[in-house]
Amino acid sequence: AKEKRRSRICFYDASLHETMKLENYLEGRMQYALETREFHMFLQPKINLKTNSLGGAEALVRWVEDNGVVICPDQFIPLFEKNGFCVQLDQYMVECACQKIREWIDKGIEPIGIAVNQSKSTFYESDHIDALCRLVEKYQIPPKLITLEILEGLAMENIKELNRKIEQLQKTGFQISMDDFGSGYSSLNTLAKLKINELKLDKGFLREASLEGNQRSKIIMKQIVQLADCLSISTVVEGVETKKEESFIRSLGCNYGQGYYYSRPVSSKEFDIRYMEDRRG
Ligand code: C2E
Ligand code: CA
Ligand code: CA
Ligand code: CA
Repeated sequence: AKEKRRSRICFYDASLHETMKLENYLEGRMQYALETREFHMFLQPKINLKTNSLGGAEALVRWVEDNGVVICPDQFIPLFEKNGFCVQLDQYMVECACQKIREWIDKGIEPIGIAVNQSKSTFYESDHIDALCRLVEKYQIPPKLITLEILEGLAMENIKELNRKIEQLQKTGFQISMDDFGSGYSSLNTLAKLKINELKLDKGFLREASLEGNQRSKIIMKQIVQLADCLSISTVVEGVETKKEESFIRSLGCNYGQGYYYSRPVSSKEFDIRYMEDRRG
């Protein structure tokens, strides 16, 4: 028994040590990685369920090291949120999105909107709105093609200040989407007070509702979609993985679907080949 206990403690220490080692490693390389363009913008399509066509894309960051190793955001976003680096990274991702849209327009391809994730620290950065305006100005793109995905948690703090910010961004032309709705302490208060353009129902919602016999989750999803509709907020269901789930979200009347059923996030080059080539004028 003693032997067993000791090995368990060793294991715990080792994994904690490994985590710290990884964090130190990532932290030591992040600035260099940003400068040498190791962060890549992957795109995942958002399908318009009414027209059955491409309705936009979400930008998701991938860290591709020069040895080809791909690091997924779950491994570094929480760390960057802690150490403040998210602000620079999110800004960089908005720039990638603007650049891509400019490239489409220059090639005579009808552009689609791109949604970028905004961490909490990014959203509260004092220079945030100006920085966004400088980018759409620099690339000469209509701000309505940029959607900012914010997290519900933001609304837990200062809802008045958040609303001011949202309204200011919308006046400039940006779209605001509430990400991961239903994953945390979602409240109807958020819907009542925040004048967002879009609601993204968390994939956990769909997983629950997809379980056989889970009638209550299905009813709740349906009512959220209807409620959003009445408030002129468009709805996206994320995490659509199967034909059955796609039929279900269609039956709810929601506007967009996103998930592996349509496509995984792909490199922007791959995205162009798959979706943008036939949008040439
Ligand atoms: P998110 O914003 O909720 O993004 C959706 C996540 O679900 C993505 O994971 C996407 O690859 C994954 N996904 C898409 N379709 C499906 C599906 O059908 N099934 C399942 N199980 N998953 C699906 P990813 O790319 O690993 O990103 C994880 C999270 O990291 C994102 O969650 C977002 O919170 C954060 N993130 C990603 N890129 C950025 C960024 O540029 N800035 C910031 N601040 N956060 C980012
Ligand atoms: Ca998102
Ligand atoms: Ca989400
Ligand atoms: Ca998420």
